[in-house]
Amino acid sequence: MAKEPKKSKQQRATEVCRRMEERYGNRGSALRYHSPYSLLIAVMLSAQTTDRSVNKVTPRLFDLWPHPADLAVADEKDVEEVIHPLGFYHTKARHAIECAQTILADWNGHVPDTMEGLTSLPGIGRKTANIVLNKAFGKVEGIAVDTHVFRIATRLGFTAAPTPLAAEQDLLSIIPQSLWGSVNETWIQLGREICSSRAPKCDICPLADLCPSAGSALRSPAKGIRKK
Ligand code: SF4
Repeated sequence: MAKEPKKSKQQRATEVCRRMEERYGNRGSALRYHSPYSLLIAVMLSAQTTDRSVNKVTPRLFDLWPHPADLAVADEKDVEEVIHPLGFYHTKARHAIECAQTILADWNGHVPDTMEGLTSLPGIGRKTANIVLNKAFGKVEGIAVDTHVFRIATRLGFTAAPTPLAAEQDLLSIIPQSLWGSVNETWIQLGREICSSRAPKCDICPLADLCPSAGSALRSPAKGIRKK
């Protein structure tokens, strides 16, 4: 098949973002948070689980440890007990405590508001940093590519990259910067409702006329797709 010119890809990507904003743009974040610190920890805890599950444990978590200074001195076993239902609780508890300790030691108790600062924290990668920068500080420096965004971008033919991290660079090169901020949240909604990993509903998808995988996504599944 002939390689699609970049200009055509840019036009498709812009139209995809426009339709996703129109359909899902006013739904807001599913994760509940009240500060950069609570958002950072909530996003970290959301790996490999659902936002709804995270919302069930975070009220108690932030009652017990409302600030980084509290969590920094928490007993790891106590944190594990609170976040146990989320899975991977050993690693998540350790990272949450180490994160709070680093915020206290290196950032005077405040969550850093730069990509460099955020990704220097234990357990925080570019995906989480993008979300925190965008939602907590109103800064858009990239696109948070999770498994939903990665799957959809691959099916739409916007990337053939093997990892979400590499796929982000492909998306940044074809989506206008003014639209980066809404991609994560709106595409996740599409992934949950329509373009799921196992059973994409191409027949009712609002992107079907823009998608080279429409009707065949299951016959040629995107590489590296895992359930969130
Ligand atoms: S047409 Fe199908 S594969 Fe393409 S984005 Fe929609 S649901 Fe996903």
